[in-house]
Amino acid sequence: MRRGGLRSGAPAADISGVEQRRRYAAAGWLPAAPALTGAAGGTSPLAADLLLLLAAVLTAGVLWRRGRRVCRGLRGWTLLAVAVVVGVLSHALAQWLWPGPSGVLLAPARLLVPLPALLLALAGVLTLPSGAALRRAGGRLLTGTALFGSATVVLGQVLVVGPALHGDGSPPVSRLALELSCGATAVLLTAVLVVVTVSAGPRRTSGALLLAAAGAEATAHGLAVVGAQRDVPGLAVLVPAAQLAALLLLSLAARRDPGRAAVTRRTGPGLAGQLLPHLVMAAAVLLYAGAALLGAAPTGVAALAASAAVVLTAVHRVLSARHEARVATRLRSSEAYFRSLVRASTDAVLILDPDLTVTWAPPSLAGGPALTGAPLPDAVHPDDAAAVRDWLTGAAPTGLRTFRLPGGTGSWRVLEAGVTDLRDDADVRALVLHCRDVTARLHREGELRSLAFTDPLTGLPNRAAQTAALTARLAQPAPAAGGGLLVLELCGLREAQADAGRDVGEVALTEVARRLRATVRGDDQVARVGTELFGVLAEGADDELDRLAARCLSAIEQPLVTELGLLDLTAVVGLVPLTAGLTAADAVDRAELAVADARTAGPGAVRRWRLELGAARDRREALRRDLVGARERGELSVVWQPVVALADSRVTGVEALLRWQHPTLGEVLPEEFLPVAEQAGLVLDLQRWVFAETTRDALTLPEVEGPLTLAVNVSVRHLAAGTLVGDVGAALRASGLPAQRLQIEITESALLTEGAAADAVAADVAALRLMGVRVALDDLGRGWAALPQLARVPVDVVKLDPGFLARIDRDAVVRALCESVVRLADGLGMDVVAEGIESTSQLAAVQAAGCTAAQGFLLARPLPLPALRTLLVDNAGLLWPGLAGRVGAR
Ligand code: C2E
Ligand code: CA
Ligand code: CA
Repeated sequence: MRRGGLRSGAPAADISGVEQRRRYAAAGWLPAAPALTGAAGGTSPLAADLLLLLAAVLTAGVLWRRGRRVCRGLRGWTLLAVAVVVGVLSHALAQWLWPGPSGVLLAPARLLVPLPALLLALAGVLTLPSGAALRRAGGRLLTGTALFGSATVVLGQVLVVGPALHGDGSPPVSRLALELSCGATAVLLTAVLVVVTVSAGPRRTSGALLLAAAGAEATAHGLAVVGAQRDVPGLAVLVPAAQLAALLLLSLAARRDPGRAAVTRRTGPGLAGQLLPHLVMAAAVLLYAGAALLGAAPTGVAALAASAAVVLTAVHRVLSARHEARVATRLRSSEAYFRSLVRASTDAVLILDPDLTVTWAPPSLAGGPALTGAPLPDAVHPDDAAAVRDWLTGAAPTGLRTFRLPGGTGSWRVLEAGVTDLRDDADVRALVLHCRDVTARLHREGELRSLAFTDPLTGLPNRAAQTAALTARLAQPAPAAGGGLLVLELCGLREAQADAGRDVGEVALTEVARRLRATVRGDDQVARVGTELFGVLAEGADDELDRLAARCLSAIEQPLVTELGLLDLTAVVGLVPLTAGLTAADAVDRAELAVADARTAGPGAVRRWRLELGAARDRREALRRDLVGARERGELSVVWQPVVALADSRVTGVEALLRWQHPTLGEVLPEEFLPVAEQAGLVLDLQRWVFAETTRDALTLPEVEGPLTLAVNVSVRHLAAGTLVGDVGAALRASGLPAQRLQIEITESALLTEGAAADAVAADVAALRLMGVRVALDDLGRGWAALPQLARVPVDVVKLDPGFLARIDRDAVVRALCESVVRLADGLGMDVVAEGIESTSQLAAVQAAGCTAAQGFLLARPLPLPALRTLLVDNAGLLWPGLAGRVGAR
């Protein structure tokens, strides 16, 4: 805030307490100082003169400083400072030339002494406003000020010239001097009025003070002239007092002037500027008429000026009338424009006075009771009233708010409003709200939101909704009873859909949704969180959750009636208790693990989440991540397990088995990492590498009464990919290993495919055998389902599973089964290899049952290539318990 500035229009709140006290003190000074000066003048004219001199010097200083700050060059306040100095000097000169009080008649020249200062002051005053501001002043202003000028002249004539001359005895020189000095004063006053009128807003206070200063100076002048002539008592007191008041007002005017730069917009002449000419005119006419009534003959100049004033009043009136008519027309058209804008606009404008009463509301908003005249907080929805009041009564309301207004027929319309605070604008003094009706938009948004959170088929909340509910539930302090998340995965739906079509699937899903909703308690949330997945967010203790899972399962397992007959569905259920500190993502993650666990347990299973599930999953993920590039890093290798012919204890072949030496997890067995490789799509690549490595290395093995057979395992996926034959051929060509020395081992599940896939497997097996490659069916006895397939897909070897053979030495049934497999294989021309032989009694049993060959830790563990070579060489290709030291390298 500017120091000491009394800005017009400045909010009262801007003025601090200290500042206010300063102002009151200054205001107290205004009458006090002249009174003191007057008192000084009453006792000693010299004292009054010295005081005035001091005041004039100070004033000149103030004006000069202000002038340097707000005016450029020698103009405005700077020029007025010079005028004050010149005034003081000319006063001193007059005192020196004509000491003591002297009348006009005695020293007419003395009257002209202040003239230079007056003229300078005139120039200073007229250069205060900008030239542009003066030029803008239209005819109305000119006539107004001319009227003021004429009225002032009349006043001067009646109050000063008339009484001073008092009769006709005065010489023309004195008369002329007096007229001149009075005329100059009138001109100065008029100039000041012009300045006051053209000074807009922020400069108005300064202008008014300047006018007061000019008035005081004119009074002092008039009193001095008349007093000197007519010996008016108390003159020694009044004149210096008026002069000092003039100086004080002048410095105040300068100090309060913010300068031209502060005027940023045009405003019309203030009320004072408009009324003053007429008030002075009225006073002049009264005085003129009064003087005439009292018998004083008005001077010729007075008569002339009075007539001019009357004429100017009439002209001013005419000009004003024309101006008013123009303004009225403009106002009407701008009003019409405004009204059509308001009507056409989708936005509504509400105007509130500072106590929030609606002073204007467009008809489009009058859906309910009329708004105008009521406080806005009383008109809005009761729930919004406090917020609206808080918003609008703040120091500087900003931003957008929504509130509801009655929309007729009992409904509410929602408005989104922004505010423009024009309470400080003197022309408006209101808050203007720009309102937009957002009812339809919010309605649409609400619909979209509910769509985004709803499963369109079942109408249940979807996964996003369940996550939101879960997040909210977990954010609450955990209730004593706990609560949990159940995830149910339907089994059998995909098959039903494949048989009966999508429509049946959709009917089934809708029915399952209905049943689940009917099964859970009112507070529990059922959601459809995946194609065949439902989630239940339930409250309750652990055993209640188990019971709920069982109830949900049996609800799903009730036969479903469809157009195409009865449908039997079941499900697997994963259950996660909700514990403190769990996040929604954690809970969903755990539920998925539990479901996966339940899936491995088979349809109808319910599994709770356990810590180990997470650990197993984490290990699987680490394996999947690290398997990429494991071969390039040299972490993969092949170990070899000899196969021994039971007839002569001779090693007839070796089986290649894959190993992964993981850098942190240690040795990982193929049964763990191969499924991971299959899922990650890495298995074909791996298998080709195994083919290449083993066919090459097999050629380096020592020959023991003929070349050894190399057995390599292949995965079902490799068969399904249809590249097996090509890959085997490529490996054989690349290594030069004769096809007869290679045995490809496939598992039972490869033979259990149906349709085109089964034909492809049969064709591949046939092709391999045609190439000369032997084909073995691995793991027979883990299940027997592949046995009938052997007629359709003939192989060269069957390998009996260790699990089946484990009790062969103690179990007659197993022994009998084994014997019949051997017989069957014999009939089909197949060899039978007994796997996983760990004891001599097992060895004896399989030998007695008629198996062709055996493989197992008893004979040799899988070995790295160098160890295998040593074993073969050392034992001359023979391997039998007791015959050789068994080398452990599993
Ligand atoms: P498989 O073809 O049945 O291989 C025999 C498995 O039995 C080997 O396990 C072997 O170490 C183990 N074994 C041998 N003798 C005994 C014994 O006396 N007692 C016991 N308890 N186990 C014995 P390994 O090496 O863990 O291989 C597991 C399976 O991984 C293999 O079963 C085979 O199906 C698969 N596999 C191994 N290497 C490859 C490969 O290069 N490609 C493919 N596709 N599968 C492979
Ligand atoms: Ca095998
Ligand atoms: Ca096996």
